[in-house]
Amino acid sequence: MAKKKKRIKYKNISILLVPIIILLVIILAGKDKTSLKTDYSKMSIEEIEEYAKLNELEVKKDYKYSITVEKDKYISTKLDGKTIKLVISKGDYEDSYYRDKKINEMGKVPIMMYHSIVDRTDNEYTGGNVDKNGYNRTAKAFREDLEFYYKSGYRMIRLEDYINGIIDVPEGYSPIILTFDDGNEDNAKVIDCDSNGELIFDSNSAIGILEEFKKKYPDYGVTATFFVMQNIFNQSKYDRDIVNWMVNNGYDIGNHTISHPDFTKISEETSIKQVGSMYKILDNYLGDKYVKIVALPFGSPYKKDHANYKHILGGTYEGYEYQTEAALRVGWEPEVSPFNKNFDKTFLKRCRAYDNDGNEFDIEAVFKSLEKNRYISDGNKDRIVIPKSEEAKLNSDYTNVRIYEEV
Ligand SMILES: [Zn+2]
Repeated sequence: MAKKKKRIKYKNISILLVPIIILLVIILAGKDKTSLKTDYSKMSIEEIEEYAKLNELEVKKDYKYSITVEKDKYISTKLDGKTIKLVISKGDYEDSYYRDKKINEMGKVPIMMYHSIVDRTDNEYTGGNVDKNGYNRTAKAFREDLEFYYKSGYRMIRLEDYINGIIDVPEGYSPIILTFDDGNEDNAKVIDCDSNGELIFDSNSAIGILEEFKKKYPDYGVTATFFVMQNIFNQSKYDRDIVNWMVNNGYDIGNHTISHPDFTKISEETSIKQVGSMYKILDNYLGDKYVKIVALPFGSPYKKDHANYKHILGGTYEGYEYQTEAALRVGWEPEVSPFNKNFDKTFLKRCRAYDNDGNEFDIEAVFKSLEKNRYISDGNKDRIVIPKSEEAKLNSDYTNVRIYEEV
């Protein structure tokens, strides 16, 4: 009984399908000439035009600038009814395009240096500094700094990317790099773990605030490099989890030596131990997931020809070999573009993130000076666009370069 019913059902459906199929065949046959499937990608514009003629199709051409598609080649094709729509490349933008946007990938890049972020509301010192010299910032001031950078058209990039010449920010925007020294507890203060074992950070610690901005401005590219010593973030219960959380969430960990010596006041053997054994500790915590960058305590030595400098850059400590990719000084002004022939990643300057009423290289002074010479991206990380006046600074290793006239 059940079988019979089913058969009847199928029969009914097939009766219904017959006219549908006939109708489809008619429609498709009528559409035949415009639905021809052809691989245009292997055809020249002339061949497409020839093809269109043969099939009684129209060709409509639009012209657009393109930095990836050669002039007079097409960028895209689309069949729309009886029309083939071709978008043809006008080649690279005119010089005026870059001039108007002030694109300059030979401009300067600020590497900001922070230490403690302290949740204090009183204003004992100028504009959010917690100490007299402005090495530490209040949580409120740090939030204001981040707002200021964002609204001034800066987007964060990793220090590791910068030293490798990778600057990936949108067209018209400028890169900024954040660093934190000393591994202060307030950089990544853990207050608890949730039921899944996930760390909960104090919302006024550096990480708490950075994560807040990650949500607030998803296009900010929030990241920072934290330079730690042997006590990591001074939270022995959580340190291993903190550094792993960081590298899994877009932050980097670097080397600030074992115990913050002044390299001009210690022996060569001690220098090797200070750098090499810190790398060993980071190896133990993170395997190879940390950056081989040293932030020099006190920014010392101030000269690269100091006898201890070579030990910062590489060596062997008790059979353990280490190699440093880049080194950071404490500093005062923005660094040059990584495409500048004078770029030296083993001796990089930083800007102290502090307020001093616009004096002595404070944030206000640094960003004011950057208005004259900041790095402004063309939005393509693989190509360097610079004005003619900057050409002499270019490192000749870079060949994918577009130079424009500034009339
Ligand atoms: Zn330090």
